Amino acid sequence: MKWTETYIPTLREDPTEAEIVSHRLLVRAGFIRKLAAGVYNYLPLMQRVLLKISRIVREEMNRAGAQEILMPVLQPAELWQTSNRWETVGKELMKMKDRHLRDLVLGGTHEEVVTFLVRGEIRSYRQLPLNLYQIQNKFRDEIRPRFGLMRSREFLMKDAYSFDANEESFKISYKKMIDAYFGIFKRCGLDTKMVESDTGAMGGKAAHEFMVIVNTDGGENIIFFCDNCDYAANIEKATSIEPAAQEKAGSRNRLQKIPTPQMKTVEEVTGFLNVPASKLVKTILYTADGKTLAALIRGDRQINETKLKNILKSINLEMADPLTVQKITGAEVGYAGPVGLKGVKLIGDKELLLMTDFVTGANEDNYHLINVNLERDFELDLVEDIRNASPGELCPQCHKDRLKTAKGIEVGNTFMLGTKYSRALNATFIDEDGQEKFLIMGSYGVGITRTAQAAVERFHDSSGIIWPVPIAPFSVEVLPVNIQDEKQREAAFEIYNGLKDNKLEVLLDDRNEHAGVKFNDGDLIGIPLKLIIGDKNLKDNKIELKTRCNNETILVDRGEVQEEVTKVLRKLDKK
Ligand code: ATP
Ligand code: MG
Repeated sequence: MKWTETYIPTLREDPTEAEIVSHRLLVRAGFIRKLAAGVYNYLPLMQRVLLKISRIVREEMNRAGAQEILMPVLQPAELWQTSNRWETVGKELMKMKDRHLRDLVLGGTHEEVVTFLVRGEIRSYRQLPLNLYQIQNKFRDEIRPRFGLMRSREFLMKDAYSFDANEESFKISYKKMIDAYFGIFKRCGLDTKMVESDTGAMGGKAAHEFMVIVNTDGGENIIFFCDNCDYAANIEKATSIEPAAQEKAGSRNRLQKIPTPQMKTVEEVTGFLNVPASKLVKTILYTADGKTLAALIRGDRQINETKLKNILKSINLEMADPLTVQKITGAEVGYAGPVGLKGVKLIGDKELLLMTDFVTGANEDNYHLINVNLERDFELDLVEDIRNASPGELCPQCHKDRLKTAKGIEVGNTFMLGTKYSRALNATFIDEDGQEKFLIMGSYGVGITRTAQAAVERFHDSSGIIWPVPIAPFSVEVLPVNIQDEKQREAAFEIYNGLKDNKLEVLLDDRNEHAGVKFNDGDLIGIPLKLIIGDKNLKDNKIELKTRCNNETILVDRGEVQEEVTKVLRKLDKK
């Protein structure tokens, strides 16, 4: 392809709307343009990347025995009402009405549709296992679309669905998908870490996510992992071994009310009382599906709202508003405490069982209690793990090493759905023993557009993108320093045509631009190899070959460009 015939609108300046580096680079390098919040145009360079990722995904899915289909984006609301996800997915479902005022959904995932599809068609265990997949635009009304293609409202996804007759067979199907996922991302040039994750509105028994580890702001997920064993989990799911009790159980000190004027935060109160944050218990009021409750946790810990939501089996969980706090505690936000608190359930984190003589709010403006003790001063209605794990705590699996954290981008997700959807939609089959049973299902997603941007977030430098060879929009860029120069022009076209004849994907920068502009744009769009054709080297019949990933330069004989390019690309691909 010639640059002058391709639509590559690069920008000199960073776009103001972009918060993270990969988003900035994709806009600046002319890969994407925004249409509306979370809705993007994919320009020619981007489309080439997406097609390459899609091709890798197809090859690996087909290899794993899955079959490609294409399901409708437009879905009747009844299906979602039947599975109860009309409520549980709630506002994230992209809903619309047709001319007859019937409710419709623009698909954000296809468990309902695929289950409806196979229902009645799969009749016997002999037709199982089965795995169907598609690559399609998905729609989700994300509460906060952001970071370009990372969290958009319309995006490209590969979604696969497996059907099995029994658990043993399902395990094999699930493992095949996990192996395929490692293969897909590896072939895209991305190392991934598989972590345990929460099942969320998808439901089912268990789930895993595939994370690209980045240490940038683009890593939306925090993951915990152990170096000694293979434990790895999303913060939503991660647990840890409780530390030993802070002090030996013994006689408790006398409960006292202490003035803490204008002190509301943990830092203010513990600073004022001169105790560590771990000696305070925070009381946080939540509203779960309209009902208020109090969650109690050690002062230096964070509430894990996913765990809390799962324990409460609630659909909507949010912090109670100040008015509700005032009504329930009789005080402003900042002074809530469990002692004497009436009318709400108290849910305490397990760690509270290890604490004695702690500080809490007094349910009165400007006062806290000290020397509060469980049982003596108040009772908990429920004791559960409702906190985030902390780095440095013991691994819950091997109990040997300390947990570490990293930031990750979730590029893929696998769910053990069990019979949730087959039961809801009554999708059964007749098993070997003649019994009618529900299909056992799994679902498996890869965000194609998110994977593309994750590669940019992972591989870039101050000059631009550094595409991994297998998903780069072009493999080689031919850059004549001065296209007006007849000799350079001739050499550039000769090399360009030769590489094309060799089935290589080449971009020829045939623009009549200053060399500096072409070099900068070349670095920005991130093609793995550059062939630079300049006056001086050409006189010696040489061409400069430069790799984008490490800026290594070698001089190659004009007649040996083909072989050399193939050799270097192969080497880069293996990295
Ligand atoms: P997240 O936790 O990031 O919201 P999810 O659990 O909702 O993701 P899935 O329903 O499992 O995601 O979707 C499968 C894949 O689709 C994800 O792993 C991710 O790569 C991609 N994906 C999900 N939501 C979006 C989005 N809003 N924009 C772009 N890609 C997305
Ligand atoms: Mg989501």
